[in-house]
Amino acid sequence: MNKDYIIEQLKSQIKGFESETKTEKVGTVMEIGDGVARLSGLTDVMASEMLEFPNGEFGVALNLEEERVGAMVLGGYDGIKEGDQVKSTGKILSVPVSDNFIGRVINPLGLPIDGKGDIKADESYPIEKIAPGVITRKSVHQPVQTGIKAIDAMIPVGRGQRELIIGDRQTGKTAIAIDTILNQKGQDMICIYVAIGQKESKVARIVGELTERGAMDYTTVVVAGASDPAALSYIAPYAGCALGEYFMDKGKDVLIVYDDLSRHAWAYRQISLILRRPPGREAYPGDVFYVHSRLLERSAKLNEKFGGGSITALPIIETQAGDVSAYIPTNVISITDGQIYLEADLFYKGIRPALNVGISVSRVGSSAQIKAMKKVAGKLRLDIAQFRELEAFAQFGSDLDEATKQKIERGKRTVEILKQGQYEPMAVENQVAILYAVTNGFTDDVEVSKVRDWEKDFHKYLKSSKKEVLELIASKKELSEDVIAALEGAIKEFKEVYQSGK
Ligand code: ATP
Ligand code: MG
Repeated sequence: MNKDYIIEQLKSQIKGFESETKTEKVGTVMEIGDGVARLSGLTDVMASEMLEFPNGEFGVALNLEEERVGAMVLGGYDGIKEGDQVKSTGKILSVPVSDNFIGRVINPLGLPIDGKGDIKADESYPIEKIAPGVITRKSVHQPVQTGIKAIDAMIPVGRGQRELIIGDRQTGKTAIAIDTILNQKGQDMICIYVAIGQKESKVARIVGELTERGAMDYTTVVVAGASDPAALSYIAPYAGCALGEYFMDKGKDVLIVYDDLSRHAWAYRQISLILRRPPGREAYPGDVFYVHSRLLERSAKLNEKFGGGSITALPIIETQAGDVSAYIPTNVISITDGQIYLEADLFYKGIRPALNVGISVSRVGSSAQIKAMKKVAGKLRLDIAQFRELEAFAQFGSDLDEATKQKIERGKRTVEILKQGQYEPMAVENQVAILYAVTNGFTDDVEVSKVRDWEKDFHKYLKSSKKEVLELIASKKELSEDVIAALEGAIKEFKEVYQSGK
């Protein structure tokens, strides 16, 4: 063979030669215990970087100190011992994402736990991400219908909003979130329910309800159970949010429930104490505010240029004896755009949902309400506020004038109408119809104890005989004269039928 040719060949090969050696950062386990490892030799890892332990488990770098790195182990740490070598991966912890996750129950690492086989992923999303900037956002203008009358009327939630559900244990917090998910059927919304530190049996019951009621068709459930390591509880909401961001980036609307962030804070406190971070107020580490703010900031409504997707967040916080001034509640209240306060007293009195209408607020949602709802809601608020004031007087049994008595009677009926059973979300046109009826005095002659039955029959009647009125409200979205005429006609006709039937 030609010698020059060979030399040329060699030269070109040398030119094209690239070293494939990769520098791998390796550290050593100094201490391991309670799911947390202290490592040396990994001085330039990033915060939230994924680390690989020799037993095949992964960890996440948390505490970056000058000489040491604190990391949590995401799984079993039995096989890890002092002196083991740990590799850094150069990657922020990521979770697999794809449309195939809809309908599945997964752990915070994106692995299926519903026994339905592997989930094919398209790509992976980092669990920590900088929230969308103002340039990419649009103000909230489309509603999220929760299907709960009291909320949709008086504390409306908009797509892209963060609305906190807060209350003592067993006051119906989860019920509100689950009903909201059930009500998203056919609303072009993808739902993610993140269960943090809850008993596995409770979560199984929730998944059962969602499945039975057809809501798993558009829902993913992310579970870090009570018996899982605290590290999994800690990353669960971020993992759920990452999946939500995948859908938002595709222009979809996403609703995500974090149930609940109190347990999330406990998990973070536990990890931090083991890492020997200095404890602050209520023994939480100093950056616990940032833990929640950087999560909730990622909820957004993007503008058209960025695809128009959204993430609406419903974080849940459990209070102790109604104390909203404790550390974690005040933090999360200050980060969210509104709060739904649930009260144990109301719950025991049978007012369910146990909503304290007086102090619950939604700071941005009303701009997303349909006009018809806005109109009836204004009247509703006034009725309730007047009722509250007068109710106190009425307790003294003093002589009341006719007008006052009438307002009290109206108020009692309004309170009845705002009661709503679990798993009974209601379409917005039905809500408008019944709230119109009660605020305009059409239920004044119905006995208080019969109001709820009256309402049930009313909806049945609308469904069977007055579908066109419901359709009219749904399509016009406002109470124009023709809509009012049709609605009042339907209410009057129903009253005749109802009264003659009794
Ligand atoms: P926990 O603190 O245990 O998480 P929670 O505040 O999430 O409780 P839920 O589990 O939602 O409360 O509800 C507590 C109980 O009240 C459940 O048995 C539920 O079925 C019932 N409940 C909730 N909402 C209603 C409602 N609107 N009508 C009737 N019962 C309800
Ligand atoms: Mg709950």
